[in-house]
Amino acid sequence: MASDKQRRGFSRRRFIQGAAAAAAASGSMLSSAAREEKHGEESDRQRPPSDDAPNIVFVNGRIHTMDDENTVVSAVSIRDGRFAEVGQASRGRHGPNTKVIDLRGRTVVPGIIDNHNHIVLMGNRPGFHTPLENAYSIPDVQAIYAERAAGIPRDAWITTIGGFHSNHIYANPSDPTSGRLPTRAELDIAVPNNPVFIEIGFTGPATTNSAGKALFESQGITVAENGSMTGTNPSKALLYLRQTLLNPESRRRAVIDAMNYAATVGVTTHLDQGAFQATNTAADGAAHEDNFTMHIPFLEVYGQGKGIVRLRINFLHMESDQATPELVQRLKNAFQFLGNDMVKTGAIGEFIAAGTNAASPFVAAAKRVAAAGWRAEVHSLGRRNTPASNPADFELEIMGFEAANADSPGVVRERRWVIAHVPGITQEWIDRLQKIGGNLSLTGWQYLAGNLPASTVAPYAGPPFRMIVDSGRRPGGIHAGMSSDGMQIAPMNPWLHMYFATTGINARKVLINPGQQITRQEVLSLYTRENGWFLREEDELGTIEPGKLADLVVLNSDYFAVPNEDLKKIRSVLTVVGGNVVYDGGVLDLRG
Ligand SMILES: [Zn+2]
Repeated sequence: MASDKQRRGFSRRRFIQGAAAAAAASGSMLSSAAREEKHGEESDRQRPPSDDAPNIVFVNGRIHTMDDENTVVSAVSIRDGRFAEVGQASRGRHGPNTKVIDLRGRTVVPGIIDNHNHIVLMGNRPGFHTPLENAYSIPDVQAIYAERAAGIPRDAWITTIGGFHSNHIYANPSDPTSGRLPTRAELDIAVPNNPVFIEIGFTGPATTNSAGKALFESQGITVAENGSMTGTNPSKALLYLRQTLLNPESRRRAVIDAMNYAATVGVTTHLDQGAFQATNTAADGAAHEDNFTMHIPFLEVYGQGKGIVRLRINFLHMESDQATPELVQRLKNAFQFLGNDMVKTGAIGEFIAAGTNAASPFVAAAKRVAAAGWRAEVHSLGRRNTPASNPADFELEIMGFEAANADSPGVVRERRWVIAHVPGITQEWIDRLQKIGGNLSLTGWQYLAGNLPASTVAPYAGPPFRMIVDSGRRPGGIHAGMSSDGMQIAPMNPWLHMYFATTGINARKVLINPGQQITRQEVLSLYTRENGWFLREEDELGTIEPGKLADLVVLNSDYFAVPNEDLKKIRSVLTVVGGNVVYDGGVLDLRG
């Protein structure tokens, strides 16, 4: 959002790399000066000089590069996992192994970057987790489940744990029985043989079919006649499923499923924000996992060369002890931004301590994170109180950031500290955060279950997208990025979040964020170019420009032209990560 020169301008290194790649792709000789530079600065990226032709050339597309000028081009070539030539037509010399793929006019965008989600939780789900975030009716749920059952063992559990809401499968506004979960009988029709567990949000309500009901009841878990599960029963059921179904192999399978789903909706990079620490009791909800072991299946999948989307790992710390002993050890013994292009560590977040009030160690933790030179990421769900003498969470967080920044001058700007969600933030506090260089991650999670607040300072559900994006336009303006906060409270699907950001309309088709809508170009920019900055990888990710990692998504329809409601139906037909096709929807001819 900000227009500071440092971020807007290509760095010299980037320019040289891009020029070299473009020259190589077009078959021209590098000047000796450029070659010198390339050797001097890019030796780590030297590849065997067997074939300097591109690996893939995409032609005849509407390729939205999301560069500084929002340039749209028709062709792009990829070599060694990076974009080479980006232009109106490929002038490049094609080698014998170059694939030329005709996009037939399709819209292409950079790989979507989600700067705040919980894909690690999704990759540790028990059973064959099956997203329902794209179901819009009970028959949709039945179809999705029947299809899932067809591809797995006959008695295997099918689960959906968070990421959707009954509002989402709301069929008829005049029918009070719609906007509900499917019943036991409806699930039996779709999946008669596989036990089922479908749970909303962190702790339910939930529903099951006959096969699931029998198994749950054998464990003393109460299931109503129609399959519904309420109170503590969903969490008891989830504990049972975790204890009986999870093992290293099933977790790796769930990781691959989560990555495959991400590729179908075009999310090629994920900044994971951790979990609530599991207690392995029925007090655990959908967002609980073991923060110390839950990354292992992901690291194993990457180790096997099967990781198809990029993962950045934040460490969540939620201590109430003022001394924050765990956080202290993390800062002493771990490294941030360590790893490779596919998987690397990130910052402390989305919690640095339990709570934000005076009794919480929030300020002490912020100062420790600052002193160690780490990035802090926190979240805010609060609104200003009336009277304002009782500060909202974002006010306490910004004051805490200010205290840390005073102790370690410049750390907030330098390390790009973040507050996420911010439904209730006001212009006054945006300005105050901007002053110390803090940043905002915006989320469309209110789409699923949000309503207009009954009584509040802000006459909208939030976040105030319009206010924040406009604040970013001012000189030195605040940086904003976009995120899903999937997989419990919200969907991963970025096109649902883009729908909410641009329309302000929730899953029940009620306008709940009036006056705060932003444009499609703006929200796509937050989800791509701006999020490259949030990851500190703006030289590598977020736009389709020469030298950057070749992540792109070919869409099934024109994001910029479809009616609002059809934004929800946007999917990838081809997802490319690092020059590799990681999802092929079968509509393009890839034989090249
Ligand atoms: Zn979160």
